[in-house]
Amino acid sequence: MKQYDVVIIGGGPAGMSAALNTKRMGKSVIILEKEAFGGQIATSPRVENIPGFKEISGVDFSGIFFEQITELGVDFDLENVLEVKKDGDLFIVKTDYNEYQAKAVIIAQGCQHRHIGVAREEELVGKGISYCAVCDGAFFKGEDVAVIGDANTALQYALNLTNYCNKVYLCMLFDRFFADSILIDRVLHNDKIVITKEIALQEFLGDKELTGLRFKNTKTGEEVTFDVKGVFIAIGQVPNPNICGDLVDLEKGYILVNENMETKTKGLYAVGDCTKKNYRQVATAVNDGLIAAVHVSNNLK
Ligand SMILES: Cc1cc2nc3c(=O)[nH]c(=O)nc-3n(C[C@H](O)[C@H](O)[C@H](O)COP(=O)(O)OP(=O)(O)OC[C@H]3O[C@@H](n4cnc5c(N)ncnc54)[C@H](O)[C@@H]3O)c2cc1C
Repeated sequence: MKQYDVVIIGGGPAGMSAALNTKRMGKSVIILEKEAFGGQIATSPRVENIPGFKEISGVDFSGIFFEQITELGVDFDLENVLEVKKDGDLFIVKTDYNEYQAKAVIIAQGCQHRHIGVAREEELVGKGISYCAVCDGAFFKGEDVAVIGDANTALQYALNLTNYCNKVYLCMLFDRFFADSILIDRVLHNDKIVITKEIALQEFLGDKELTGLRFKNTKTGEEVTFDVKGVFIAIGQVPNPNICGDLVDLEKGYILVNENMETKTKGLYAVGDCTKKNYRQVATAVNDGLIAAVHVSNNLK
């Protein structure tokens, strides 16, 4: 079994910040990531509120951060963590390939995309339905596509898709945006984006692949159909499944922590978007990672 002072679960901004600062404080540390280092921010085409970068793509930011931690000597592996258990004063972290023993564990699992819950959604993922414009937008070059959502992510997706697509239908459930005014302004002034408000998705059209979307107007009941080959669903996030059992307390799936990012179990920390908090952003995730790293390093024997 591999042994570390600290095992960090999740390679997004919170996990990488925790790794950076734990390593700098002289601890042995590994970061385990199930998909790709960078986390959610790697799916953002353009980020403008990370201190120190006037404007950067999420992929570039993640690449720089990953280089910073690996050059420092942080170990990493692409493994899905299935379970965290206590073993006396130590922790056992079980992945799909290995088991790790750690003096402390930092959970930085983040969130995942919320699904819209309309019939055949899972079946058509990858066949027209996507949750990431940066990852999949280029597949729809020259086509008409739709974005469902009304907050920052949806607006960023719509703007990004205008680089590839012919027309982008922005489909909103309510009659107002829940986004930064700078993004709203850009969307309103982009003539490739067609905004339709107060519509709720009823059906994904198409047999083996998506060919369109049927909506109903929430006020008038009138139906509207968009002929699109791609739809990008951006309606928020939900927490990832709990891998710590009763070692942590949850509220609506989010992990409860104190001001040092400690859970109810000594030596077990949680940071970033997976914790209960009001604002989920890169800056708050990075802040949490630093706090946990300093606290755990000061308290490890
Ligand atoms: C499209 C988009 C645009 C955004 N734009 C901005 C922006 O402009 N500015 C801003 O500040 N924030 C933005 N955000 C929010 C920001 O990305 C998040 O707040 C931030 O990434 C949270 O970091 P995190 O490390 O807590 O979680 P995440 O980024 O979610 O990272 C968690 C990581 O943990 C991994 N993981 C989960 N479970 C396991 C497991 N069991 N085993 C191993 N690994 C696991 C995941 O694969 C993921 O890589 C945006 C988010 C999205 C989706």
